[in-house]
Amino acid sequence: MSDHKLLINGVLRDGARHIDVVNPATGAAFATCPVADLALLDEAVAAAKAAFPAWSARPLADRAGLLTRLADAMQARAAEFGRLLTLEQGKPLDQAGMEIMGAIFTLRAFAGMKLDPVVQKDDAKGKVVEIRRPLGVVAAITPWNYPVMLLMNKLGPALLAGNTVVAKPAPTTPLTSLLFGALCAEILPPGVVNIICDENDLGQALTSHPNVAKVSFTGSTATGRKVMQAAAATLKRVTLELGGNDAAIVLDDVDPIATARKIFQGAMANAGQVCVVIKRAYVPEMMYDIFCDELTRLAQAAVVDDGSRQGTQIGPVQNRAQFEKLKALLADSARDGKIAAGGTALDREGFFIAPTIVRDVTDDAAIVRDEQFGPVLPVLKYTDLDEVVERANASDYGLGGSVWGTDEERAADVAARLQSGTIWVNQHLALSPMIAFRGAKQSGMGAELGLDGLKEYTQAAILNIKRG
Ligand code: NAD
Repeated sequence: MSDHKLLINGVLRDGARHIDVVNPATGAAFATCPVADLALLDEAVAAAKAAFPAWSARPLADRAGLLTRLADAMQARAAEFGRLLTLEQGKPLDQAGMEIMGAIFTLRAFAGMKLDPVVQKDDAKGKVVEIRRPLGVVAAITPWNYPVMLLMNKLGPALLAGNTVVAKPAPTTPLTSLLFGALCAEILPPGVVNIICDENDLGQALTSHPNVAKVSFTGSTATGRKVMQAAAATLKRVTLELGGNDAAIVLDDVDPIATARKIFQGAMANAGQVCVVIKRAYVPEMMYDIFCDELTRLAQAAVVDDGSRQGTQIGPVQNRAQFEKLKALLADSARDGKIAAGGTALDREGFFIAPTIVRDVTDDAAIVRDEQFGPVLPVLKYTDLDEVVERANASDYGLGGSVWGTDEERAADVAARLQSGTIWVNQHLALSPMIAFRGAKQSGMGAELGLDGLKEYTQAAILNIKRG
Protein backbone atom coordinates (compact mmCIF):
# COMPACT_ATOMS: atom_id res chain seq x y z
CA MET A 1 0.00 0.00 0.00
CA SER A 2 1.11 3.55 -0.68
CA ASP A 3 -0.19 6.84 0.66
CA HIS A 4 -0.27 8.00 -2.93
CA LYS A 5 -3.01 6.88 -5.31
CA LEU A 6 -3.65 6.70 -9.04
CA LEU A 7 -6.68 8.58 -10.32
CA ILE A 8 -8.93 6.54 -12.59
CA ASN A 9 -12.52 7.50 -13.38
CA GLY A 10 -12.71 9.92 -10.47
CA VAL A 11 -11.58 7.32 -7.92
CA LEU A 12 -8.23 7.37 -6.09
CA ARG A 13 -6.94 3.84 -6.55
CA ASP A 14 -4.10 1.53 -5.65
CA GLY A 15 -1.93 0.27 -8.46
CA ALA A 16 -1.16 -3.22 -9.66
CA ARG A 17 2.08 -3.00 -7.64
CA HIS A 18 4.38 -0.39 -6.12
CA ILE A 19 7.77 1.13 -6.85
CA ASP A 20 10.12 3.07 -4.62
CA VAL A 21 10.51 6.81 -5.07
CA VAL A 22 14.05 7.95 -4.30
CA ASN A 23 15.12 11.29 -2.85
CA PRO A 24 18.01 12.30 -5.12
CA ALA A 25 19.66 14.20 -2.27
CA THR A 26 20.17 10.96 -0.33
CA GLY A 27 19.91 8.23 -2.96
CA ALA A 28 17.44 6.46 -0.62
CA ALA A 29 13.75 5.70 -1.07
CA PHE A 30 11.42 8.00 0.87
CA ALA A 31 8.04 6.83 -0.44
CA THR A 32 6.36 4.26 -2.61
CA CYS A 33 4.23 4.89 -5.65
CA PRO A 34 1.47 2.75 -7.13
CA VAL A 35 2.02 1.76 -10.76
CA ALA A 36 -0.59 0.67 -13.27
CA ASP A 37 -0.63 -2.40 -15.49
CA LEU A 38 -2.19 -2.71 -18.93
CA ALA A 39 -5.64 -3.41 -17.48
CA LEU A 40 -5.57 -0.23 -15.38
CA LEU A 41 -4.28 1.75 -18.36
CA ASP A 42 -7.24 0.47 -20.39
CA GLU A 43 -9.60 1.48 -17.59
CA ALA A 44 -8.11 4.98 -17.52
CA VAL A 45 -8.47 5.42 -21.29
CA ALA A 46 -12.02 4.03 -21.21
CA ALA A 47 -12.94 6.45 -18.41
CA ALA A 48 -11.52 9.38 -20.36
CA LYS A 49 -13.40 8.28 -23.47
CA ALA A 50 -16.67 7.95 -21.57
CA ALA A 51 -16.23 11.39 -19.98
CA PHE A 52 -15.49 13.13 -23.28
CA PRO A 53 -19.02 13.73 -24.71
CA ALA A 54 -20.34 15.53 -21.62
CA TRP A 55 -17.10 17.43 -20.93
CA SER A 56 -16.71 18.64 -24.50
CA ALA A 57 -20.38 19.69 -24.62
CA ARG A 58 -20.01 22.05 -21.65
CA PRO A 59 -19.56 25.73 -22.43
CA LEU A 60 -15.89 26.77 -22.55
CA ALA A 61 -16.55 29.22 -19.70
CA ASP A 62 -17.58 26.28 -17.45
CA ARG A 63 -14.38 24.43 -18.19
CA ALA A 64 -12.38 27.63 -17.60
CA GLY A 65 -14.10 27.99 -14.22
CA LEU A 66 -13.03 24.48 -13.22
CA LEU A 67 -9.44 25.20 -14.30
CA THR A 68 -9.50 28.23 -12.01
CA ARG A 69 -10.81 26.06 -9.17
CA LEU A 70 -7.93 23.63 -9.73
CA ALA A 71 -5.49 26.56 -9.64
CA ASP A 72 -7.08 27.81 -6.39
CA ALA A 73 -6.87 24.35 -4.82
CA MET A 74 -3.22 24.06 -5.80
CA GLN A 75 -2.48 27.48 -4.42
CA ALA A 76 -4.05 26.51 -1.08
CA ARG A 77 -1.63 23.58 -0.87
CA ALA A 78 1.35 25.23 -2.59
CA ALA A 79 3.75 24.65 0.31
CA GLU A 80 2.93 20.94 0.40
CA PHE A 81 3.41 20.68 -3.38
CA GLY A 82 6.76 22.51 -3.09
CA ARG A 83 8.11 20.27 -0.33
CA LEU A 84 7.09 17.10 -2.16
CA LEU A 85 8.60 18.41 -5.39
CA THR A 86 11.95 19.04 -3.68
CA LEU A 87 11.87 15.56 -2.14
CA GLU A 88 11.21 13.72 -5.37
CA GLN A 89 12.93 15.99 -7.88
CA GLY A 90 15.82 17.46 -5.88
CA LYS A 91 15.53 21.16 -6.79
CA PRO A 92 16.01 23.72 -3.99
CA LEU A 93 12.81 24.64 -2.14
CA ASP A 94 12.68 28.18 -3.50
CA GLN A 95 12.92 26.88 -7.07
CA ALA A 96 10.27 24.24 -6.28
CA GLY A 97 8.04 27.06 -5.03
CA MET A 98 8.62 28.93 -8.28
CA GLU A 99 7.67 25.86 -10.31
CA ILE A 100 4.43 25.47 -8.35
CA MET A 101 3.59 29.18 -8.75
CA GLY A 102 4.39 28.91 -12.47
CA ALA A 103 2.09 25.89 -12.76
CA ILE A 104 -0.77 27.74 -11.04
CA PHE A 105 -0.18 30.78 -13.25
CA THR A 106 -0.30 28.54 -16.32
CA LEU A 107 -3.68 27.08 -15.35
CA ARG A 108 -5.03 30.59 -14.78
CA ALA A 109 -3.58 31.82 -18.08
CA PHE A 110 -5.31 29.05 -20.04
CA ALA A 111 -8.54 29.65 -18.11
CA GLY A 112 -8.46 33.16 -19.61
CA MET A 113 -8.06 32.05 -23.24
CA LYS A 114 -10.79 31.76 -25.86
CA LEU A 115 -11.33 29.65 -28.95
CA ASP A 116 -13.77 31.86 -30.81
CA PRO A 117 -14.83 30.98 -34.38
CA VAL A 118 -12.88 32.94 -37.00
CA VAL A 119 -14.93 34.41 -39.86
CA GLN A 120 -12.79 34.10 -42.96
CA LYS A 121 -15.33 35.52 -45.40
CA ASP A 122 -18.80 37.04 -45.02
CA ASP A 123 -20.47 38.62 -48.07
CA ALA A 124 -23.53 38.36 -50.32
CA LYS A 125 -22.25 35.08 -51.81
CA GLY A 126 -21.67 33.29 -48.55
CA LYS A 127 -19.91 32.92 -45.27
CA VAL A 128 -16.84 30.90 -44.32
CA VAL A 129 -16.12 30.29 -40.64
CA GLU A 130 -13.33 28.31 -39.03
CA ILE A 131 -14.43 26.54 -35.88
CA ARG A 132 -12.37 24.45 -33.48
CA ARG A 133 -13.43 21.20 -31.87
CA PRO A 134 -11.70 19.13 -29.20
CA LEU A 135 -9.98 15.94 -30.29
CA GLY A 136 -11.01 13.38 -27.65
CA VAL A 137 -8.70 11.56 -25.24
CA VAL A 138 -5.28 13.17 -24.83
CA ALA A 139 -2.30 11.20 -23.49
CA ALA A 140 -0.08 13.65 -21.57
CA ILE A 141 3.40 12.24 -20.94
CA THR A 142 5.89 14.21 -18.88
CA PRO A 143 9.58 13.96 -17.89
CA TRP A 144 11.28 14.34 -14.50
CA ASN A 145 12.79 17.81 -14.61
CA TYR A 146 9.65 19.97 -14.20
CA PRO A 147 6.97 17.40 -13.37
CA VAL A 148 4.33 19.86 -12.16
CA MET A 149 4.87 22.72 -14.59
CA LEU A 150 5.02 20.48 -17.65
CA LEU A 151 1.85 18.65 -16.63
CA MET A 152 -0.04 21.96 -16.38
CA ASN A 153 1.33 23.04 -19.78
CA LYS A 154 -0.63 20.10 -21.16
CA LEU A 155 -3.68 19.89 -18.87
CA GLY A 156 -4.50 23.59 -19.11
CA PRO A 157 -5.02 23.72 -22.88
CA ALA A 158 -6.28 20.12 -23.23
CA LEU A 159 -9.10 20.62 -20.70
CA LEU A 160 -10.02 24.13 -21.76
CA ALA A 161 -10.45 22.97 -25.35
CA GLY A 162 -12.80 20.20 -24.17
CA ASN A 163 -10.56 17.12 -24.26
CA THR A 164 -10.24 14.53 -21.52
CA VAL A 165 -6.84 13.34 -20.36
CA VAL A 166 -4.81 10.33 -19.29
CA ALA A 167 -1.58 11.70 -17.79
CA LYS A 168 1.54 9.68 -17.10
CA PRO A 169 4.45 11.23 -15.18
CA ALA A 170 8.03 9.94 -15.26
CA PRO A 171 8.62 7.03 -12.87
CA THR A 172 11.19 8.92 -10.80
CA THR A 173 8.93 11.97 -10.14
CA PRO A 174 5.37 10.65 -9.93
CA LEU A 175 4.17 11.94 -6.55
CA THR A 176 3.42 15.59 -7.29
CA SER A 177 1.30 14.48 -10.26
CA LEU A 178 -0.61 12.10 -7.97
CA LEU A 179 -1.11 14.90 -5.44
CA PHE A 180 -2.60 16.96 -8.25
CA GLY A 181 -4.77 13.94 -9.09
CA ALA A 182 -6.24 14.09 -5.58
CA LEU A 183 -7.33 17.69 -6.31
CA CYS A 184 -8.84 16.65 -9.64
CA ALA A 185 -10.83 13.92 -7.84
CA GLU A 186 -12.52 16.61 -5.73
CA ILE A 187 -13.10 19.17 -8.46
CA LEU A 188 -13.59 17.54 -11.86
CA PRO A 189 -16.26 15.13 -13.10
CA PRO A 190 -15.06 11.48 -13.08
CA GLY A 191 -12.86 10.48 -16.02
CA VAL A 192 -12.01 13.99 -17.22
CA VAL A 193 -8.48 13.65 -15.82
CA ASN A 194 -6.92 10.27 -15.08
CA ILE A 195 -3.38 9.92 -13.74
CA ILE A 196 -1.50 6.66 -13.95
CA CYS A 197 2.12 5.83 -13.15
CA ASP A 198 4.43 3.24 -14.61
CA GLU A 199 7.95 1.89 -14.50
CA ASN A 200 8.83 3.29 -17.92
CA ASP A 201 6.84 0.40 -19.41
CA LEU A 202 3.42 1.80 -20.38
CA GLY A 203 4.42 4.55 -22.82
CA GLN A 204 4.14 2.36 -25.88
CA ALA A 205 0.69 1.04 -24.92
CA LEU A 206 -0.59 4.54 -24.16
CA THR A 207 0.76 6.17 -27.32
CA SER A 208 -0.55 3.40 -29.58
CA HIS A 209 -3.92 3.03 -27.83
CA PRO A 210 -6.75 3.10 -30.41
CA ASN A 211 -8.92 5.31 -28.16
CA VAL A 212 -6.26 7.99 -27.66
CA ALA A 213 -6.69 10.83 -30.16
CA LYS A 214 -3.62 12.89 -29.35
CA VAL A 215 -0.30 12.46 -27.62
CA SER A 216 1.31 15.45 -25.98
CA PHE A 217 4.81 14.35 -25.08
CA THR A 218 7.70 16.08 -23.36
CA GLY A 219 10.91 14.13 -23.00
CA SER A 220 13.99 13.05 -24.87
CA THR A 221 14.36 13.08 -28.65
CA ALA A 222 15.00 9.31 -28.63
CA THR A 223 11.66 8.59 -26.93
CA GLY A 224 9.95 11.24 -29.09
CA ARG A 225 10.80 9.19 -32.17
CA LYS A 226 9.14 6.14 -30.60
CA VAL A 227 6.06 8.21 -29.80
CA MET A 228 5.73 9.31 -33.42
CA GLN A 229 6.00 5.73 -34.60
CA ALA A 230 3.44 4.49 -32.08
CA ALA A 231 1.02 7.28 -33.01
CA ALA A 232 1.31 6.61 -36.74
CA ALA A 233 -1.01 3.59 -36.92
CA THR A 234 -4.12 5.65 -36.14
CA LEU A 235 -2.68 9.01 -37.24
CA LYS A 236 -2.95 10.47 -33.76
CA ARG A 237 -2.12 14.13 -33.41
CA VAL A 238 1.24 14.55 -31.69
CA THR A 239 2.99 17.42 -30.01
CA LEU A 240 6.61 16.69 -29.19
CA GLU A 241 8.70 18.87 -26.89
CA LEU A 242 12.09 17.19 -26.98
CA GLY A 243 15.74 17.68 -26.14
CA GLY A 244 17.86 20.72 -26.83
CA ASN A 245 21.45 21.88 -26.95
CA ASP A 246 21.04 25.64 -26.61
CA ALA A 247 23.95 27.83 -27.65
CA ALA A 248 24.60 31.24 -26.12
CA ILE A 249 26.62 33.56 -28.36
CA VAL A 250 28.32 36.39 -26.52
CA LEU A 251 29.11 39.42 -28.70
CA ASP A 252 32.26 41.51 -28.33
CA ASP A 253 30.51 44.65 -26.99
CA VAL A 254 29.33 43.21 -23.64
CA ASP A 255 30.67 43.64 -20.14
CA PRO A 256 32.26 40.19 -19.73
CA ILE A 257 31.86 39.89 -15.96
CA ALA A 258 28.18 40.92 -15.87
CA THR A 259 27.38 38.70 -18.85
CA ALA A 260 29.26 35.71 -17.43
CA ARG A 261 27.06 35.95 -14.34
CA LYS A 262 23.88 35.86 -16.41
CA ILE A 263 25.17 33.00 -18.56
CA PHE A 264 26.03 31.04 -15.42
CA GLN A 265 22.44 31.43 -14.15
CA GLY A 266 21.13 30.45 -17.57
CA ALA A 267 23.23 27.27 -17.55
CA MET A 268 22.85 26.05 -13.97
CA ALA A 269 19.10 26.49 -13.35
CA ASN A 270 17.57 23.27 -11.98
CA ALA A 271 21.11 21.81 -11.88
CA GLY A 272 21.23 22.19 -15.67
CA GLN A 273 18.26 19.85 -16.13
CA VAL A 274 16.14 22.05 -18.34
CA CYS A 275 15.46 21.46 -22.01
CA VAL A 276 16.29 25.14 -22.55
CA VAL A 277 19.25 25.93 -20.35
CA ILE A 278 22.45 27.19 -21.96
CA LYS A 279 24.35 24.04 -22.87
CA ARG A 280 27.27 25.66 -24.76
CA ALA A 281 28.63 29.22 -24.61
CA TYR A 282 30.57 30.84 -27.47
CA VAL A 283 32.75 33.71 -26.27
CA PRO A 284 34.98 36.11 -28.30
CA GLU A 285 38.68 35.32 -28.01
CA MET A 286 39.43 38.85 -26.76
CA MET A 287 37.45 38.29 -23.54
CA TYR A 288 37.66 34.48 -23.31
CA ASP A 289 40.02 34.25 -20.31
CA ILE A 290 38.26 36.82 -18.17
CA PHE A 291 34.88 35.25 -19.03
CA CYS A 292 36.04 31.72 -18.15
CA ASP A 293 37.64 32.96 -14.94
CA GLU A 294 34.39 34.53 -13.77
CA LEU A 295 32.38 31.39 -14.65
CA THR A 296 34.94 29.32 -12.75
CA ARG A 297 34.68 31.56 -9.70
CA LEU A 298 30.88 31.30 -9.75
CA ALA A 299 30.95 27.51 -10.13
CA GLN A 300 33.34 27.16 -7.20
CA ALA A 301 31.29 29.52 -5.02
CA ALA A 302 27.87 27.94 -5.71
CA VAL A 303 26.20 26.26 -2.73
CA VAL A 304 25.50 22.67 -3.79
CA ASP A 305 23.45 20.76 -1.25
CA ASP A 306 20.19 19.02 -0.42
CA GLY A 307 17.40 21.16 -1.90
CA SER A 308 15.50 20.96 1.40
CA ARG A 309 18.24 22.99 3.15
CA GLN A 310 17.90 26.76 3.21
CA GLY A 311 20.50 28.49 1.08
CA THR A 312 21.05 25.67 -1.41
CA GLN A 313 21.56 27.09 -4.89
CA ILE A 314 22.14 23.89 -6.85
CA GLY A 315 20.59 20.55 -5.85
CA PRO A 316 21.43 17.02 -6.95
CA VAL A 317 20.67 15.67 -10.41
CA GLN A 318 17.36 13.90 -10.41
CA ASN A 319 18.13 10.21 -10.76
CA ARG A 320 20.90 7.65 -10.69
CA ALA A 321 20.85 6.98 -14.45
CA GLN A 322 21.40 10.68 -15.19
CA PHE A 323 24.09 10.85 -12.49
CA GLU A 324 25.99 7.94 -14.05
CA LYS A 325 25.62 9.44 -17.53
CA LEU A 326 27.08 12.75 -16.33
CA LYS A 327 30.01 11.08 -14.59
CA ALA A 328 30.94 9.28 -17.82
CA LEU A 329 30.58 12.52 -19.81
CA LEU A 330 32.84 14.37 -17.37
CA ALA A 331 35.49 11.65 -17.57
CA ASP A 332 35.55 12.18 -21.37
CA SER A 333 35.66 15.96 -20.97
CA ALA A 334 38.87 15.81 -19.01
CA ARG A 335 40.42 14.42 -22.22
CA ASP A 336 38.64 16.80 -24.61
CA GLY A 337 39.23 20.09 -22.78
CA LYS A 338 40.40 21.74 -19.61
CA ILE A 339 38.20 21.36 -16.53
CA ALA A 340 38.31 24.81 -14.95
CA ALA A 341 35.84 24.01 -12.14
CA GLY A 342 34.14 20.87 -10.88
CA GLY A 343 34.48 17.86 -13.14
CA THR A 344 33.48 15.20 -10.64
CA ALA A 345 30.68 13.94 -8.45
CA LEU A 346 30.67 15.19 -4.86
CA ASP A 347 31.97 12.75 -2.28
CA ARG A 348 28.71 12.27 -0.41
CA GLU A 349 25.41 10.36 -0.53
CA GLY A 350 22.99 11.34 -3.27
CA PHE A 351 23.40 12.32 -6.91
CA PHE A 352 25.52 15.47 -6.64
CA ILE A 353 27.72 16.75 -9.45
CA ALA A 354 30.02 19.69 -8.78
CA PRO A 355 29.13 22.67 -11.03
CA THR A 356 31.50 22.23 -13.93
CA ILE A 357 33.10 24.64 -16.39
CA VAL A 358 35.01 23.07 -19.28
CA ARG A 359 37.20 25.43 -21.35
CA ASP A 360 39.50 25.09 -24.36
CA VAL A 361 37.22 22.41 -25.73
CA THR A 362 36.46 21.70 -29.39
CA ASP A 363 33.08 21.57 -31.12
CA ASP A 364 33.23 17.82 -31.66
CA ALA A 365 33.70 16.93 -27.96
CA ALA A 366 30.79 14.91 -26.55
CA ILE A 367 30.19 17.56 -23.87
CA VAL A 368 29.53 20.13 -26.63
CA ARG A 369 27.72 17.93 -29.14
CA ASP A 370 25.38 16.08 -26.76
CA GLU A 371 22.70 17.34 -24.44
CA GLN A 372 24.42 17.10 -21.03
CA PHE A 373 21.37 17.77 -18.82
CA GLY A 374 23.45 18.55 -15.74
CA PRO A 375 25.31 21.43 -14.02
CA VAL A 376 27.93 21.53 -16.73
CA LEU A 377 28.90 24.27 -19.18
CA PRO A 378 31.46 24.00 -21.99
CA VAL A 379 32.87 27.40 -23.08
CA LEU A 380 34.11 27.76 -26.65
CA LYS A 381 36.25 30.47 -28.21
CA TYR A 382 35.49 32.32 -31.48
CA THR A 383 36.89 35.13 -33.58
CA ASP A 384 34.51 35.35 -36.57
CA LEU A 385 30.79 36.05 -36.13
CA ASP A 386 29.58 34.29 -39.31
CA GLU A 387 31.59 31.25 -38.39
CA VAL A 388 30.22 31.11 -34.84
CA VAL A 389 26.63 31.27 -36.11
CA GLU A 390 27.43 28.27 -38.31
CA ARG A 391 28.96 26.44 -35.37
CA ALA A 392 25.96 27.16 -33.16
CA ASN A 393 23.62 25.89 -35.90
CA ALA A 394 25.63 22.71 -36.52
CA SER A 395 23.35 20.65 -34.28
CA ASP A 396 20.41 18.32 -34.82
CA TYR A 397 18.71 20.18 -31.99
CA GLY A 398 16.98 23.54 -32.34
CA LEU A 399 15.08 24.30 -29.15
CA GLY A 400 16.36 27.60 -27.73
CA GLY A 401 19.38 29.85 -28.00
CA SER A 402 20.50 33.31 -27.01
CA VAL A 403 22.65 36.20 -28.17
CA TRP A 404 24.18 38.65 -25.71
CA GLY A 405 25.14 42.15 -26.87
CA THR A 406 24.95 45.81 -25.92
CA ASP A 407 23.85 46.86 -29.42
CA GLU A 408 20.35 45.34 -29.37
CA GLU A 409 19.78 45.59 -33.12
CA ARG A 410 23.02 43.81 -33.94
CA ALA A 411 22.31 41.12 -31.33
CA ALA A 412 18.78 40.62 -32.70
CA ASP A 413 20.18 40.27 -36.25
CA VAL A 414 22.50 37.50 -35.08
CA ALA A 415 19.67 35.90 -33.08
CA ALA A 416 17.43 35.73 -36.15
CA ARG A 417 20.07 33.54 -37.81
CA LEU A 418 19.96 30.85 -35.11
CA GLN A 419 17.94 27.80 -36.18
CA SER A 420 15.84 27.35 -33.03
CA GLY A 421 12.21 27.68 -32.01
CA THR A 422 12.99 30.42 -29.48
CA ILE A 423 15.97 32.77 -29.58
CA TRP A 424 16.44 35.20 -26.73
CA VAL A 425 18.43 38.43 -26.71
CA ASN A 426 20.17 39.34 -23.43
CA GLN A 427 18.20 36.69 -21.55
CA HIS A 428 17.64 32.94 -21.61
CA LEU A 429 14.87 30.72 -20.28
CA ALA A 430 12.21 33.42 -20.43
CA LEU A 431 9.03 31.39 -20.97
CA SER A 432 5.40 32.41 -20.56
CA PRO A 433 2.10 30.53 -20.88
CA MET A 434 1.01 33.33 -23.22
CA ILE A 435 3.87 32.78 -25.70
CA ALA A 436 4.12 29.72 -27.96
CA PHE A 437 7.14 27.53 -27.37
CA ARG A 438 8.32 25.07 -30.02
CA GLY A 439 11.35 23.09 -31.09
CA ALA A 440 12.96 23.34 -34.53
CA LYS A 441 14.74 20.38 -36.16
CA GLN A 442 14.89 17.33 -33.86
CA SER A 443 13.88 19.34 -30.79
CA GLY A 444 10.23 18.81 -31.46
CA MET A 445 7.08 19.22 -33.45
CA GLY A 446 4.12 21.49 -32.89
CA ALA A 447 3.78 24.18 -30.26
CA GLU A 448 3.10 24.21 -26.56
CA LEU A 449 1.79 27.26 -24.64
CA GLY A 450 0.15 30.38 -26.04
CA LEU A 451 -2.82 30.40 -28.37
CA ASP A 452 -0.92 28.24 -30.87
CA GLY A 453 -0.35 25.69 -28.11
CA LEU A 454 -4.06 25.71 -27.26
CA LYS A 455 -5.01 25.16 -30.90
CA GLU A 456 -2.90 21.99 -30.93
CA TYR A 457 -5.58 20.39 -28.77
CA THR A 458 -8.26 21.07 -31.37
CA GLN A 459 -9.29 20.04 -34.84
CA ALA A 460 -9.99 23.03 -37.08
CA ALA A 461 -13.05 22.68 -39.28
CA ILE A 462 -14.43 24.99 -41.97
CA LEU A 463 -18.13 25.85 -42.16
CA ASN A 464 -18.70 27.01 -45.74
CA ILE A 465 -22.18 28.50 -46.30
CA LYS A 466 -23.52 29.47 -49.74
CA ARG A 467 -25.88 32.43 -50.11
CA GLY A 468 -28.08 33.64 -52.89
P1 NAD B 1 12.38 10.36 -21.46
O1 NAD B 1 12.14 10.52 -22.91
O2 NAD B 1 13.23 9.24 -21.00
O3 NAD B 1 11.00 10.17 -20.67
C1 NAD B 1 9.96 11.11 -20.78
C2 NAD B 1 8.64 10.40 -20.49
O4 NAD B 1 8.39 9.42 -21.51
C3 NAD B 1 8.61 9.63 -19.17
O5 NAD B 1 7.33 9.80 -18.59
C4 NAD B 1 8.80 8.19 -19.63
O6 NAD B 1 8.29 7.24 -18.71
C5 NAD B 1 8.03 8.18 -20.92
N1 NAD B 1 8.37 7.10 -21.85
C6 NAD B 1 9.41 6.23 -21.80
N2 NAD B 1 9.35 5.38 -22.86
C7 NAD B 1 8.27 5.75 -23.59
C8 NAD B 1 7.70 5.28 -24.81
N3 NAD B 1 8.23 4.30 -25.51
N4 NAD B 1 6.60 5.90 -25.27
C9 NAD B 1 6.06 6.95 -24.61
N5 NAD B 1 6.56 7.43 -23.44
C10 NAD B 1 7.64 6.84 -22.95
O7 NAD B 1 12.91 11.77 -20.98
P2 NAD B 1 13.44 12.15 -19.54
O8 NAD B 1 14.80 11.55 -19.41
O9 NAD B 1 12.40 11.86 -18.54
O10 NAD B 1 13.55 13.75 -19.66
C11 NAD B 1 14.67 14.42 -20.10
C12 NAD B 1 14.51 14.84 -21.53
O11 NAD B 1 13.34 15.63 -21.69
C13 NAD B 1 15.64 15.73 -22.02
O12 NAD B 1 16.04 15.35 -23.31
C14 NAD B 1 15.03 17.13 -22.06
O13 NAD B 1 15.65 18.02 -22.94
C15 NAD B 1 13.64 16.80 -22.47
N6 NAD B 1 12.74 17.89 -22.10
C16 NAD B 1 12.20 18.64 -23.10
C17 NAD B 1 11.38 19.72 -22.79
C18 NAD B 1 10.78 20.57 -23.88
O14 NAD B 1 9.83 21.29 -23.60
N7 NAD B 1 11.28 20.54 -25.09
C19 NAD B 1 11.10 20.01 -21.47
C20 NAD B 1 11.66 19.22 -20.47
C21 NAD B 1 12.47 18.15 -20.81
